[in-house]
Amino acid sequence: DTIGANLDRTAARFPGHDALVEYATGRRWTYGEFDADVSTLALGLLDLGIGKGDRVGIWAPNRAEWTLLQYAAARIGAILVNINPSYREHELEFVLNQAGTRLLVAAKRFKSSDYEAMVEQVRSRCPDLEHAVFLDSPEWESLWRRGTAADPGRLTAAKAELSADDPINIQYTSGTTGFPKGATLSHHNILNNGFFVGELCGYTEHDRVALCPPFYHCFGMVMGNLACTSHGSAMVIPSEGFDSGAALAAVDAQRCTSLYGVPTMFIAELDRPDFDGYDLSSLRTGIMAGSPCPEEVMKQVIDRMGMTEVAICYGMTETSPVSTQTRADDSLRRRVSTVGRVGPHLEVKIVDPATGLTVPVGESGELCTRGYSVMLGYWRQPDKTAEVIDSARWMHTGDLATMDPDGYVSITGRIKDMIIRGGENLYPREIEEFLYTHPDILDAQVVGVPDERYGEELMAWVRLHEGSPELTVESLREFCTGKLAHHKIPRYVHVVEEFPMTVTGKVRKVEMREQAKRFLG
Ligand code: ATP
Ligand code: MG
Repeated sequence: DTIGANLDRTAARFPGHDALVEYATGRRWTYGEFDADVSTLALGLLDLGIGKGDRVGIWAPNRAEWTLLQYAAARIGAILVNINPSYREHELEFVLNQAGTRLLVAAKRFKSSDYEAMVEQVRSRCPDLEHAVFLDSPEWESLWRRGTAADPGRLTAAKAELSADDPINIQYTSGTTGFPKGATLSHHNILNNGFFVGELCGYTEHDRVALCPPFYHCFGMVMGNLACTSHGSAMVIPSEGFDSGAALAAVDAQRCTSLYGVPTMFIAELDRPDFDGYDLSSLRTGIMAGSPCPEEVMKQVIDRMGMTEVAICYGMTETSPVSTQTRADDSLRRRVSTVGRVGPHLEVKIVDPATGLTVPVGESGELCTRGYSVMLGYWRQPDKTAEVIDSARWMHTGDLATMDPDGYVSITGRIKDMIIRGGENLYPREIEEFLYTHPDILDAQVVGVPDERYGEELMAWVRLHEGSPELTVESLREFCTGKLAHHKIPRYVHVVEEFPMTVTGKVRKVEMREQAKRFLG
């Protein structure tokens, strides 16, 4: 099915139910209104000369317009290009050109970033970019006026051209391990993934979902928006950028039944001194994804936030995104130590990266997945696509994982983060888990740095609790001695206030390795 047809069906079933609510501004749309506005905007795009296959960039924080444009583009088969809100000029220019973007819709500014100025800067170097339209500008208004004036018959004609396997979306990966790659996804890819996420959460037209992850990422626009619109649930936007107070206030005021976030977002919410002042009793479920979740955080999300059915999902942009997920009846243990089992209509296997053969149950290898969720490919990068999707359509994720006899998958790290010291494979996750047990350590990350003798040596980056005494490498090594195998004890320690992060809340180990190389000389 196409995204447009699916939305039409939901709107016909639940015309009076809330579709979209902006908590901060009070703006809201019922499904009837949302569907009508999506059509008007779609007609506006057609009237501007945008049609099937044209790339439409969106560069904005979480606002209603993001979602309206997502569905308007899908309705006419234009390919939405999600642009990371934290990009600077050179990244913006790269993405606009790489995707061959014809129309860019952008916020004027977000936080301290002047998007308008940045677009002006790069515009002359983006030959494909014909139109740049800023939200809250006369040009944006005029796009809506075009839509209102246009002949609705044009939409019917455009719809007739669509097929569920058309590319509909280019989503750039987080750039955790290097330069972002543009995963090209179809209606079929993302609509199904959103639908199954909604099924997992048991969504109905009575659910209201607080969406904190950025829309530019599949967590927001697929697991959030598409899960809601395929079930008639309400999409609630707490704030433009993540704000722990707004998230809790939106849940309270909007009686949200579900809350999404990466682990760091939940940590920030639970940490608020005014936490007990919010009424979160409406919460039933939610999703935590994107990076590993510490057990203590999961416990608190269940006990203090009342999200008894909260699920952990594992996935990646290239797989629309979800591949595995925990279920409401999985034990707490499994909800922290695993990422659940494979989702409906998907396959997962763990292979030895060297031989490609499936490893014995319980052993570590590369996770591969196959099914409706696998992207069409990387946009205009057939070579890179061929590196990750094999001839049998298995997606090689680059993630290291194990699977237990019951089919529960645990992510043990990334192949790129694996450290090879003296010929031995070391998995940072295991060492990090141990470092967390140090009373002064708030957060720890372990990376490999070049070493003449061993090829690579271990460096621990740590953040300390406030008021902790200085942490020396000697004292840390002493702490590890006897508890960690000798070759797993970090050779270097680097204390920082913050780790380098992506906007999707992931620690950028590439950046750490680069910086480490510099200061080790
Ligand atoms: P890039 O591919 O550009 O380096 P990225 O892989 O971080 O960036 P995304 O597609 O946003 O970009 O993230 C997918 C990755 O996130 C997965 O491959 C996996 O490493 C990690 N991940 C996702 N969910 C989980 C989870 N529940 N637990 C652990 N890791 C996860
Ligand atoms: Mg990746």
